Amino acid sequence: MNKNHGSKKGVLGIVITIAVLVISAIFTFGQKNLWKSAINQTDTKTAAVSSLQSSEAATQPLSVHYIDVDQGDSTLICCGEYHILIDCAKKAYEENVFSYLDMMEVDSLDLVIATHPDADHIGGFADLVGKIKPALYVLPQISPNIKKTQTELTLLNTLKTMKVKTEYAVNEKVYAFGDMRITTYITQSEQSDKNEYSVVAKLEYKNASYLFMGDAGKTVENEFMKAQYPLQADVLKAGHHGSSKSSSAKFVRFVAPRYCVFSCGLDNDYGHPHSEVLQIMKKQKVSCYRTDERGSIIIGTDGARYYFATER
Ligand SMILES: [Zn+2]
Repeated sequence: MNKNHGSKKGVLGIVITIAVLVISAIFTFGQKNLWKSAINQTDTKTAAVSSLQSSEAATQPLSVHYIDVDQGDSTLICCGEYHILIDCAKKAYEENVFSYLDMMEVDSLDLVIATHPDADHIGGFADLVGKIKPALYVLPQISPNIKKTQTELTLLNTLKTMKVKTEYAVNEKVYAFGDMRITTYITQSEQSDKNEYSVVAKLEYKNASYLFMGDAGKTVENEFMKAQYPLQADVLKAGHHGSSKSSSAKFVRFVAPRYCVFSCGLDNDYGHPHSEVLQIMKKQKVSCYRTDERGSIIIGTDGARYYFATER
């Protein structure tokens, strides 16, 4: 009986061992394939992004790179040895920015502009300053009535610890680097919405011009038009990812762009860019480029013509 029982036990043991081996083999094989397909996807992505580096657009004397960071913002400006970064994505997408900076061989930043402290704009900055310490960090001074978020507080603390030179954005202040100049504009009134404090920046290089709106909305657009700021630009980065809270028809006519860029995530929850805004651009014959459709977008210039390259 004992012997019989023992041999039954032995058979059961063998069956269990085989079952475990088979299951683990299936699991390992499956995992390997999953891993392989993840690597292939990364390879394709890296190849597409790398081809941007050698594009005609990227090799112009000035190039503006609207980095694909899903639903968020991050724009790199390169002009000779000078580099400027406007916003740094959500923390979850900060690697998109870091790998892009690596690809473009950017190892210094002369100026960083944090348009406003929303997580989809400043999320990656705390880790960025640990990699590349910017020469100057510009941020908006926001009403004390608007509560600071944890992301913002952590970042301010990091900037302090890392001894990053910071300053509040000043209206109509010009920063010049070689032949490029960037002018900042900021609301002069008390606002209840953080987005309306966005630092708006106009970039000029010879006859070329670009405008970056952050998430500034119609209140600020109206204020700026009333003040008659010289915001005319050939390339407009639409405010607030193409939300209809920004880009009024009047403002788009005022800026009079030839090209417009929307930085937004594929199938984002907000429906950005909104159809109203797309209609306004269409009516005014503005060519539109979207990061959700094209991936990262480069618009380079020699100061007279524009050159385009997109990831897809
Ligand atoms: Zn935003």
